[in-house]
Amino acid sequence: MPELKAEKLQPTILHRFQQVIAHHELAHAYLLVGPDGAGKQELAQWLTLMLFCRHVTDGRPDLTCPECQRVLSGNHPDVVVAKAEGRQIKVDQVRHLKAEFTKSGMEGQRKVFIIEDADKLTTGAANSLLKFIEEPGPGIYIFMLSNNKNAVLPTIQSRTQIVEMQPLSPDSLAQQLTTAGVPQELQPIVTGLTDSVTEAQSWMQDDWLKQVVANIVRWFKETATGNLESFVDIQESFVPLVSGHDREATCLDLMSLIWRDALVIASHADGRLYYQHYQSTLQAALRQLSVDQVLAASHIALTSRKLLDQNISFQNVAEQETLRILKETAHL
Ligand SMILES: [Zn+2]
Repeated sequence: MPELKAEKLQPTILHRFQQVIAHHELAHAYLLVGPDGAGKQELAQWLTLMLFCRHVTDGRPDLTCPECQRVLSGNHPDVVVAKAEGRQIKVDQVRHLKAEFTKSGMEGQRKVFIIEDADKLTTGAANSLLKFIEEPGPGIYIFMLSNNKNAVLPTIQSRTQIVEMQPLSPDSLAQQLTTAGVPQELQPIVTGLTDSVTEAQSWMQDDWLKQVVANIVRWFKETATGNLESFVDIQESFVPLVSGHDREATCLDLMSLIWRDALVIASHADGRLYYQHYQSTLQAALRQLSVDQVLAASHIALTSRKLLDQNISFQNVAEQETLRILKETAHL
């Protein structure tokens, strides 16, 4: 039997659901919470298969019966999925959903609603759903998905059973990042910044992350060895590459991470390195510095990042950061 992705991504939670289903204790409304790639969609699909499959054996759907086939192909008439269009799920979309709620299952006794991005329900849309979530009626199940529990309206949270996905095992995260096109040397760096595979994937476009990391490794070598080129580098290499608040913040985070790694190396502390594939480069650049100097520089990198949120331009923040680090390393 083929292994379902949900079994691989969230084995513990899936096992718990198997027991809940075996005891006929499945609740009618769940809020599945976890980062992209953690398996929320896959789990919702697995639960749907379990509800419709005609031959559940040993707590698993057979995946081959006509019901399973229709769920897997996304063509089951009694499975309705709502997604955000743009940034919100609006009342109009919910109106359609509500109309579906009130019809009883078209063919069988069951009906499943999957609401992706439950945090994107507008207050109006959420309010109009509350009654249905509270008393969905027999045979109706609602699975709501969200990356961020706290962004889901409290009225929704309080009416659902909340299930938080477990962090991915390093192996399955690595596997997903590889599938998303993140090269091996960048994977540990990516995991220092995000647990979202989708976000990591967006940084791969036009080789953005690759170029920024190459720049940062060079900038690090220069700042650590007191080379004033590092200051010029900000305007010449970084500014053309980094635009928009998200990327600016990511770039400063990456600068902060490399100096954090430097501190781990300089102080011989235990700790996994984000820039582990560049370890020898980092080591060589740090040779002339004392632990105190590295500590000061890593503190500067960490605190500079926060300045971006105070409406200071990226170029300003990065240049000031560079100058302050150079003051430590080159005794300017
Ligand atoms: Zn089946």
